[in-house]
Amino acid sequence: MNWFDEALHIGVTNQGYSQRFQVLREVCREKSDFQDLIIFETPAFGRVLALDGIVQTTEGDEFIYHEMLVHVPMFAHGAAKRVLIIGGGDGGALREALRHPVDTVTMVEIDGTVVDLCRQHMPGLSAGAFDDPRTDLIITDGIRYVAETDQTFDAIIVDSTDPVGPGEVLFTEAFYADCKRVLAPGGVLVTQSGVPYFQRSEVTNAYGRLTPNFADVGFYVIAVPTYVGGVMTLSFAADDAALRIVSERTLSERVATAGAAFRYYTPGVHRGAFALPPYVSRLMR
Ligand code: SAM
Repeated sequence: MNWFDEALHIGVTNQGYSQRFQVLREVCREKSDFQDLIIFETPAFGRVLALDGIVQTTEGDEFIYHEMLVHVPMFAHGAAKRVLIIGGGDGGALREALRHPVDTVTMVEIDGTVVDLCRQHMPGLSAGAFDDPRTDLIITDGIRYVAETDQTFDAIIVDSTDPVGPGEVLFTEAFYADCKRVLAPGGVLVTQSGVPYFQRSEVTNAYGRLTPNFADVGFYVIAVPTYVGGVMTLSFAADDAALRIVSERTLSERVATAGAAFRYYTPGVHRGAFALPPYVSRLMR
């Protein structure tokens, strides 16, 4: 029997802990210019994408992360027309963003190999999103894009790898400052900030690096089985503090207008996700 042991909490965070998947079949494996990619088939989660030995997404539980990464900022904003996704090569965040009445979703991914192989081997993730005329896919480094673009966006969604390898730059204060520069007035930024039980410094670093740039910085939590170790935190930054406390009633009106049905996201889950356990809120310093 073949098994995949995830490298994140062994080799990267050095916690001596790992999640293990039974591998029914290796679907593809490739070394790109940026990272080692593997997609394999499992009994519990369907196909799994890992980069440099770290699980990125699975067919089974991707809806939780992608719905909450995208719909929390989008429904909090309420009228985002121009959206920027940094990373997200599997296409799941793009798919969810396109469920809103947006004009454009610009997706900036450093590694075209991730896009190509996920489209081919995990097509349900993007579900046609790369062919949508509102999609503008740009293959380049996200930090370079935000430093150079003259476009502005209502929502910026950072769907990055962990802060190792090519994703490391997407956790820096310089990156957040450029995100702020390209955010339209009233805009919102979200980023993934790891699993705080294991990645304690991520919330602290995100808080310390976002607060110089945004008037209001908070975090919300989601539970994704394969981001193992308890809840995962997502950071939420804006200049308008009202975005973080939009009422359940207003969110429900926006969801009804969008006419969309979800598997994890509800206005109640949205509001409740901002209630942080003390072991998480204490990391905001
Ligand atoms: N949901 C995942 C997680 O939390 O582990 C992230 C999935 S998504 C596949 C992450 C993407 O970020 C990868 O495709 C990777 O190539 C991309 N990425 C990493 N560094 C980047 C950079 N500097 N600019 C743009 N994209 C980047």
